[in-house]
Amino acid sequence: MTSVTEVVHPLVGSKLTRLRDASTPTPEFRALLADIGCLLTLAATEHLPTEPATVTTPLTEHEGVALRGGPPVLVSILRAGNGMLDGVLRVIADADVGVVGLYRDEETLQAHEYVVRLPDLAGREVIVIDPMLATGHSSCAALDIVAARAPARIVFMCLVAAPEGIAELTERHPSVDIVTAAVDSHLNEVGYIVPGLGDAGDRLFGT
Ligand code: URA
Repeated sequence: MTSVTEVVHPLVGSKLTRLRDASTPTPEFRALLADIGCLLTLAATEHLPTEPATVTTPLTEHEGVALRGGPPVLVSILRAGNGMLDGVLRVIADADVGVVGLYRDEETLQAHEYVVRLPDLAGREVIVIDPMLATGHSSCAALDIVAARAPARIVFMCLVAAPEGIAELTERHPSVDIVTAAVDSHLNEVGYIVPGLGDAGDRLFGT
């Protein structure tokens, strides 16, 4: 059953509020989106298995931990996913990265794929990154592609989730856990999240 983790934290909340502000310029938007990606990574990786690892400090031997099976694979849903990916990579710099490119048919709101470049995902921990979980159509289309490659586990990381998108994802991918900075009110008649922050890709790339 899908778990939804809404990361309630003063840093996340204050940065998200700046992101929502329509007057926040693109350079600041980029920096804030990456910062929140970085902060959400703690919640998105909490479950990762570890194994004992011994190191020698300047004073003595110490038994610490290492990630068992290595770092998770990061899959960015283009194009807005790349804005959060930058922040996740700050703390998991050695992660393998894949991309899935989807565009949304503005009339049907259905997702169509135009690029898929993924490392081997079989048996691996995967974090799929897409800032806006709106209708859930494009997120679920991306998750269909990722899940078909038999990863050990998938966490879906987003910035803002709509209840409609959470319901869709929960129904179509019940084994995927969601980590988000906020669960918003609803979708408007053209599929935008309210209050949301507008088109995340446009605001990130200044288009
Ligand atoms: N995609 C966005 O970028 N924003 C929304 O509100 C919905 C989908």
